[in-house]
Amino acid sequence: MTTQTATSAVPDEQPLLEVSGLSKTYKAKGGGLRPRSRPEVKALHDVSFDIVRGETVGLVGESGSGKSTAASCVLRLVEPDAGSIRFDGIDVRGLPRGELRRLRARMQMVFQDPYGSLDPRFSVRELVEEPLLVHGERDEATRRDRAVQMLERVGLSAAQAERNAHAFSGGQRQRIAIARALVMNPDLVVLDEPVTALDVSVQAQVLNLLTSLQRELNLTYLFIVHDLAVAQYLCHRIAVMYRGEIVELATAQELFARPLHPYTVTLLMAAPVPDPDVMDARRSVFQDPATAQGDGTAQGCPLRPRCPVGAQRAACATSHPALREVAPGHKAACHFPGEMLTTTTAPLGGAPSSL
Ligand code: ADP
Ligand code: MG
Repeated sequence: MTTQTATSAVPDEQPLLEVSGLSKTYKAKGGGLRPRSRPEVKALHDVSFDIVRGETVGLVGESGSGKSTAASCVLRLVEPDAGSIRFDGIDVRGLPRGELRRLRARMQMVFQDPYGSLDPRFSVRELVEEPLLVHGERDEATRRDRAVQMLERVGLSAAQAERNAHAFSGGQRQRIAIARALVMNPDLVVLDEPVTALDVSVQAQVLNLLTSLQRELNLTYLFIVHDLAVAQYLCHRIAVMYRGEIVELATAQELFARPLHPYTVTLLMAAPVPDPDVMDARRSVFQDPATAQGDGTAQGCPLRPRCPVGAQRAACATSHPALREVAPGHKAACHFPGEMLTTTTAPLGGAPSSL
């Protein structure tokens, strides 16, 4: 497999998607407590990024960092507390219901779980026809033709289209979910961990499919994934998230060659390498979050309790670093960007192995 190059997207074009200052706080779920007494979860804090046509931007971060919340806000499945979302120049948050529906046809989503998102009562063709029906395509023959065509494009035969979705393997089901998303001919596809539930060998096939579909259909992808190696393969640019914030944003090439934020460096170091001593050395650089002191959220840098660069620094204790451009096109939210690589003795060994 080849890695995408950052040059295939046009950087100075008007972005297809512009997200600015997005914030979202949830009331923690359940526990029998009344809503007012439940603790709050800050899922997103001042998140800004954009995507130009034909580009893939990755949101990468550990579980709970706010990736799915960001995606849900873009599609207005979740209402953010603050911030703006512009799609093709249109203010998505200000749209009335009817117009939102029309706009939604141009943004589709593929989820991690290809089992949950495909209703077992329907044939694969019916599942792929459904979005066409919902968006007003009344002609049965047209729906059928478009569904079968799209299924063939993702690697399923016309005969397979008549079978029930449960007859298929995980990888094939994800192909069906992709066909269902693409049958509306969308501009933007939000892919939320689309290969996470699949075997590694199948992951590569689905990623290859997504890459060729993007080229052929001029698709724009917002690609959510917790694995940097997978992000590196598919993404032109990558935004690294930590606790609801983007802490670093750069082209994939630049991010792997010169990671500026200590958290990105840890993610790179967490990638498996063959030598167990190297793995040990890497692990010891960052404290485990469970043993780190303080929660780092009151003031200062949220990463400070785990960060070897910030541990002794006053600035990191007292001021929350904003995301700023440190090098051309390369942003980081760190008071001491780039220092992590010079303070640690653990070998980085370049980018994690690709799939
Ligand atoms: P990710 O996709 O990166 O794993 P999420 O966006 O799903 O992260 O979650 C971010 C944070 O918000 C987590 O702490 C999660 O528990 C919390 N969260 C997500 N959805 C809800 C919800 N509907 N109600 C309450 N808390 C939520
Ligand atoms: Mg998620």
